[in-house]
Amino acid sequence: MSVQQPSSQQAPSRPRTEKLSDAVVDTNPYSRLMALQRMGIVKNYEHIRSCTVAVVGMGGVGSVAAEMLTRCGIGRLLMYDYDKVELANMNRLFFRPEHCGMTKTDAAAVTLAQINPDVALEPFTMNITTLKGFDAFKASLTHTDTGKSRVDLVLACVDNYEARITINQVCLELGQIWMESGVSEDAVSGHIQVIIPGDTACFECVPPLVVASGIDERTLKREGVCAASLPTTMGIVAGLLVQNVLKHLLGFGQVTRYLGYASLQDYFPTMAIRPNPECINPLCRQSQAAFKVKAEQEAALQAASAPEEAAPAKADLHEANEWGIEVVADEPSGPAASRAAAALPQGLEYSMPVASMDASNLNRDAVESNDDKLEDLMAQLNAMSK
Ligand SMILES: [Zn+2]
Repeated sequence: MSVQQPSSQQAPSRPRTEKLSDAVVDTNPYSRLMALQRMGIVKNYEHIRSCTVAVVGMGGVGSVAAEMLTRCGIGRLLMYDYDKVELANMNRLFFRPEHCGMTKTDAAAVTLAQINPDVALEPFTMNITTLKGFDAFKASLTHTDTGKSRVDLVLACVDNYEARITINQVCLELGQIWMESGVSEDAVSGHIQVIIPGDTACFECVPPLVVASGIDERTLKREGVCAASLPTTMGIVAGLLVQNVLKHLLGFGQVTRYLGYASLQDYFPTMAIRPNPECINPLCRQSQAAFKVKAEQEAALQAASAPEEAAPAKADLHEANEWGIEVVADEPSGPAASRAAAALPQGLEYSMPVASMDASNLNRDAVESNDDKLEDLMAQLNAMSK
């Protein structure tokens, strides 16, 4: 089998574009995208060229998400995977038989450079879940001068718990917003979730939520039976993910905090998950305290600039809601709605990870946790910000 060589040996398909044009001519690769601006959906489409996105995992969701971002003209794309393309991947989109034997990152770089030479591509062939991989992953996301994150968004398109925990930890350390995605092992459901350190639940705040397919789990997990996958479900989840990315980066529409997809019923549950004040990750608790301080400062500033408009006190409906899960639905506010908030939307359930974190762990920590610690920390942060 002939193996296509990676790298820049191939001539680019067209010259690079200096400035995006909205000219409606057949030779303009951006005419349809710039039309979003003319139609009033997006204020400044060209902003996408200054954005950097990291896609972790170049499988059935990640490779398609990377292609979508490339076709949309994202400025810089970092891609992570350690696997090679195999014939068993051909039931999915993006990779082709001639890529077999190449690393997914190299194969993707070759294809994406041809599709849009304006995108700066950075392939990283690495396993982020090893100790060395963790450091290398974090370093690759970090600006060498400032020590801060150099990307606008990290997309988790991985298929295992360890990789998600790694991404969660690195993003907490960098204060980096990320979006999680997943497709079920029976290939018929999936989800996307936005994680903003301190503002939303991190990946360790609550047990991960999955969309129930309605199929008995026991029929799924048999010895020697590999996970199923469909190009349809993976393509849909990649589309939902990148749509959310575009809304977030270009500031249009509503960025969805959690969106599930149950294909058997064509059901899309949506919700918001607030951070757990007793999260087992100390960095998450620190982020929550810092976020609260920042929000209070912003609220004070707003109140000072508009004193006549008394800002309504933000009611905390979720005191009794252990994991701060807020169901986004057209329900009336009030006591009944707050009781309903404790329940998950129909079709969603917790997925208990096999290893370290389980519900008893979370509950035990929640019971033993000392609120004073959080208050102390907040007082310290308050003092620092004065
Ligand atoms: Zn957390």
